[in-house]
Amino acid sequence: MNDTLTNTVSTDLFKQHQERIHKNNLVSEKENQALKDSIKELLKKNNATLIAHYYVDHQIQALAEEVNGCVSDSLEMAKFGKLSKSNLLVVAGVKFMGETAKILSPEKKVIMPTLEATCSLDIGCPAEDFKNFCSQYPDREIVVYANTSAKVKALADWVVTSSIAVEVIEYLDSLDKKIIWGPDKHLGSYLQTQTDADMILWDGSCIVHDEFKFDGLQKMKKLHPDAEVLVHPESPKEVVGLADMVGSTSQILNSAKNSKSKKFIVATDKGIFYQLLKNNPNKEFYEAPTAGNGATCKSCSQCPWMGLNSLKNLEEVLKNLDNEIYVDPQVSLQANKSLSRMINFKS
Ligand code: SF4
Repeated sequence: MNDTLTNTVSTDLFKQHQERIHKNNLVSEKENQALKDSIKELLKKNNATLIAHYYVDHQIQALAEEVNGCVSDSLEMAKFGKLSKSNLLVVAGVKFMGETAKILSPEKKVIMPTLEATCSLDIGCPAEDFKNFCSQYPDREIVVYANTSAKVKALADWVVTSSIAVEVIEYLDSLDKKIIWGPDKHLGSYLQTQTDADMILWDGSCIVHDEFKFDGLQKMKKLHPDAEVLVHPESPKEVVGLADMVGSTSQILNSAKNSKSKKFIVATDKGIFYQLLKNNPNKEFYEAPTAGNGATCKSCSQCPWMGLNSLKNLEEVLKNLDNEIYVDPQVSLQANKSLSRMINFKS
């Protein structure tokens, strides 16, 4: 993976992200309410459906719930879009999510508040490089994470999300298939540990989850010995090793809801805290420690790309109906095959 590229992009982006958070904090409640009212009207006027990810700003999540849209993980977002009666889908998240929605609903128009919102996993796995990597192992099954571009999905035999990855890898291993996994090395190494499958890993990572720290989490566990530790498997393996539960965003939400514990330490993007607190008003949630708000912290458990979505640019895109997602039809057809394998596997 091109670490220099990812590091440069993320450091600049993080600075911009901090400035944006500061600016957003200056927007008054009255201004936010006016934006929300305007967005609601525009959604109605355009017969559009709002689909948001758990990591975007809590105001956008709340709005999506209010207008009977959807707040979920990337796969559920795309499935919701496919089932929606609207011909216009507004996806608040990052670009691969807009692409996945478009691949599953090629006949619909998919727009996003910004087309600049990407992902370090996507950036770190260019299709041409991944193709060359795969060509070295022609006898292996190619399994990629949903957090990739449409072009990379089109190269794969399977696309999986973190909530179904273990089951799919177990299944392939039971067929004696050898696997190429990309792009998240931490999730890949977690899958190897869980399944013992023969896997070759691409060297990519998520800048948010990569920053959770073993030492800090160990100290935090000592401070809150009665807390359950919930960790997303994109985190480093030492951090995963301290978890009581390892799972995708949806699995973390379910686990917190169903657990008898009253306290949790959570290692994933802090956008999820909106849902955790809303669903569990009597429970306490703590953010797992990252490098801290210092020079070495690139995300501080908040995805800078998810943070590019705001009420303001959501309103703008609904006024202009631009920022449309296009996927080459041939690429879309191929990517749809590997995505559909996962969808059909689950059902
Ligand atoms: S949180 Fe990580 S995996 Fe998710 S979009 Fe941001 S960089 Fe990508």
